[in-house]
Amino acid sequence: MFHKVLIANRGEIAVRIIRACRDLDVVPAVVYSEADRASLHVRLADEAYLLGPALSSESYLNIGRVIDAAKSAGADAIHPGYGFLSENADFATACAEAGIVLIGPPVESFGLTSDKSQARVFARGLDIPIVPGTCAPLTSSEEAVREARSLGYPVLLKAVAGGGGKGVRLVQSESGMQAAYEIAGSETRSAFGDASLYLEKYIAEPHHIEVQVLADHIGNAICLGERECSLQRRNQKMLEESPSPFLDETLRRTMGDAALRVVRSSGCTGAVTVEFLVDAERHFYFLDMNARLEVGHPVTEAVTGLDLVCEQLRIASGAPLTLSQERVPVRGWALGCRICAEDPDHALAPSPGVIRSLREPQGPGVRLDSGIYRGWEVALHYDSMLTKLTTFGNDRAMAIARMHRALGEYRIAGIKTNLPIFAEVLSTPEFLAGDIRVGLFEEVQRRFEKTRAVSPSLFKAHALAAALAYADATDSLFHAQDEEKESSWKLSGRPGFLAAFRR
Ligand code: ADP
Repeated sequence: MFHKVLIANRGEIAVRIIRACRDLDVVPAVVYSEADRASLHVRLADEAYLLGPALSSESYLNIGRVIDAAKSAGADAIHPGYGFLSENADFATACAEAGIVLIGPPVESFGLTSDKSQARVFARGLDIPIVPGTCAPLTSSEEAVREARSLGYPVLLKAVAGGGGKGVRLVQSESGMQAAYEIAGSETRSAFGDASLYLEKYIAEPHHIEVQVLADHIGNAICLGERECSLQRRNQKMLEESPSPFLDETLRRTMGDAALRVVRSSGCTGAVTVEFLVDAERHFYFLDMNARLEVGHPVTEAVTGLDLVCEQLRIASGAPLTLSQERVPVRGWALGCRICAEDPDHALAPSPGVIRSLREPQGPGVRLDSGIYRGWEVALHYDSMLTKLTTFGNDRAMAIARMHRALGEYRIAGIKTNLPIFAEVLSTPEFLAGDIRVGLFEEVQRRFEKTRAVSPSLFKAHALAAALAYADATDSLFHAQDEEKESSWKLSGRPGFLAAFRR
């Protein structure tokens, strides 16, 4: 096993990796930007190295500075987490040149994980269905028009170097192609430094389902089931669950086999995810693959009992897998919500600020991966995701009930978060029935915003009336006034309050 690992990331994922290092008796060293001096990952690590100013290009995306930090630390490996440099081929090369192990795919396989058109060609070569569309990067808007004509509208323009839902643009008809091509190209260049685009047929109401695989250096690979990631906002996953309520056993096995075939043939090792779209008729199509830790990995950990980060570290240090496919212990159900500093009353715009008070959910079946603490300031420089809340139960109903409980306990004050949207989503008949659509999260958010915008004063009046009526019945509430206790007015929003009042 490694002696010291440099964690080239920040926030909840850096904290998550520090914990795995501790469990394996590996020394965790981290990097940070000037904006992150007081961040939780810096406080929890054994060593911390300043990279530079807040701007990502000056800090977390700066290959030279990260490599220098790893050398100063004497780290034998770098864990890049997700995002930032985790899929950057130049970074992988720099690590190899510096003699430092990168916990990720081998340099030779990088193209397959960072270039979607290469990945499509590769999957097609294995006879795995891909979303109909082009493979080679488009060279002009005229070519895009020609290809779209033969595919049939609507189509999606997508970034070859895409990731995180960025660089995906819907084109409904030929008249919109030229403008869409130009806008998508320039967006993609600024996001990924590469303007290459390709085309995919638009699949209506798709399910985004990804299969988690672990693979070692001697050809063993096991499948750890799937994550249903169809609840999205702007093509970014907001809630994950495992298993997917949409798959039956036959399709689960077929997709699992396809994923294993892709991973084995690619030469990728460690934690590898193969992403698929599944259409309404349950045809599945390969989307892409990632040989890095996925944001949604805790739901897989919950249903398998495995620690994926420890597995990554073991595999990267050369150890073989000890678990065979037959012994993968998949059981129960898990849900994971991505809690972000976003204002639910204003189209989920980023909501920076100081966290004034914090009450974190606990109890059976609840896990919190957090990068925050009370008094810490959420800055605008980075992704708005603060924590990941995961719940587990013997079945889906229990995982949902526990998520409701956990969301109800969770209080983050001082900034706005998307917590209330999750509570609403989990109450919709569609979600409860397992009928998860890509657009559901945004629909609920718009409804939420509209209801609150129609009459904020009416909401306040209801809360006031409820609190007064309740206080009248039990005036004990008015005695709970010390700092940590919430005011009676706030308590009027408790889920159980109205029920108690009705009695
Ligand atoms: P990224 O790698 O940037 O996350 P993906 O290819 O994984 O991009 O796609 C992100 C999301 O965009 C998908 O989960 C899905 O909601 C939507 N999407 C992508 N391709 C298609 C498609 N061909 N048809 C319909 N929706 C799609």
